[in-house]
Amino acid sequence: MATMANQNKKDYYETLGVSKSASPEEIKKSFRNKARHLHPDNKDSGDEQAFKELAEAYEVLSDAQKRSTYDRYGHEGVKGAGQGFDNFDFSNFSGFGMDDIVDMLDSFFGGGGGSFRGGGRRGGPEQGAHLKYDLEIEFLEAVFGAEKTINIRRLEECESCSGTGAAPGSSPVPCVTCAGVGQVQQVINTFFGQALRVIACPSCQGSGTKIDKPCKDCKGEALVRKQKEFQLKVPAGIDAGTRLRVQSGGDKGRKSGPYGDLFVVLHIKEHETFVRDGETIHIRQPISYSLAALGGEILVPTVEGAKPLKINAGTQTGTTTQMRGMGVPRFTGQQKKETRRGDQIVHLVVETPTRLSGEEKKLLEKLAELRGEKLIVSKSDLAKAEQSIKEKQTGENLEKGESEPAEELKKETSKNAKSKDKKEDPSKDESFLDKIVDAFRPKNGETQK
Ligand SMILES: [Zn+2]
Ligand SMILES: [Zn+2]
Repeated sequence: MATMANQNKKDYYETLGVSKSASPEEIKKSFRNKARHLHPDNKDSGDEQAFKELAEAYEVLSDAQKRSTYDRYGHEGVKGAGQGFDNFDFSNFSGFGMDDIVDMLDSFFGGGGGSFRGGGRRGGPEQGAHLKYDLEIEFLEAVFGAEKTINIRRLEECESCSGTGAAPGSSPVPCVTCAGVGQVQQVINTFFGQALRVIACPSCQGSGTKIDKPCKDCKGEALVRKQKEFQLKVPAGIDAGTRLRVQSGGDKGRKSGPYGDLFVVLHIKEHETFVRDGETIHIRQPISYSLAALGGEILVPTVEGAKPLKINAGTQTGTTTQMRGMGVPRFTGQQKKETRRGDQIVHLVVETPTRLSGEEKKLLEKLAELRGEKLIVSKSDLAKAEQSIKEKQTGENLEKGESEPAEELKKETSKNAKSKDKKEDPSKDESFLDKIVDAFRPKNGETQK
């Protein structure tokens, strides 16, 4: 094959079948899937040209620096990429399985900064993946804490083969490729010119052993996905979004590596009565008109059940009262019972009675009468009000007309008009903000604390 033409080159993201925002993991996964499919050794779907393009795309997009250059400048920015593939002889890989080849290609590119992943690093035990679990709990469970049972599916050691990956009756045998050492020397001239590197054996991933007869249950992976139940203690006072870590609650690691962790992300259901703000709980408490006027006592809901609350005589709507220690316990993450608690703020809303009975109506009318309240505007009151408006207007006109000459009056009115404009649109007055600042400036004798 001759050199690849730079023009009309397919977009690398398209070649790999990922979006422009794909994570390195997504890119890697997509590469591995496609590489298996397109590798020339694959008799059904192998395509050498397509495979080379794929490898080139992966070479660039698996390297953060090259990827960002490509994002900015396109193919021009990464001209050298893929050169090694033009005269690449795939027979170098004969004798390796398809997975080994993909692993090997992956280790060529996938390592940090385009360098090889070190020999030993791939071979040793690996910690399993951390898992995330979303747990929704009730409002009161978050306040007082709770014990929850959660079920997850995670990778665990296969019991059929005791985690060896080999079928029962057989056992892993020393790897032929590396003679059981776990590492091999690779001449990598096929890609980047001549260099000799020690890498983890691609045949056995550095374990030094090979499985001839894979275990049926785990297909030689030594790990299987299983249901696992955990008892989780949710501490009192926990807030939404908190992550609880269950150590070793995640996937089992490969090659007898340790378990990853499980992170439980807390979500809290809304409550129909209580609204939470950190350690404070707010409730809206309607009270009757009579209670607001006379004062008294009512039962209000709290997270501990109904509790009495004193209402002062003459309470206005919108008044808030505090119930100390009736809020959410301070969250410390400790299992021991926390004694410090927030408050409950009760927002009192005076409700005007509707649908009055005949007797109630009479009583309220009597009350209004006693208080000298007028429920309608009388004709004489209306007339008085109109009269006073008239008097005020004529009084003003007279004053101006008498004391000022006509020219002065003109000036004055235009001035008035101006200042009126200012009032209507304060933003146009440059000094408006200064006035506000002045108003809030400490006066003489006052000191800022
Ligand atoms: Zn097994
Ligand atoms: Zn090996």
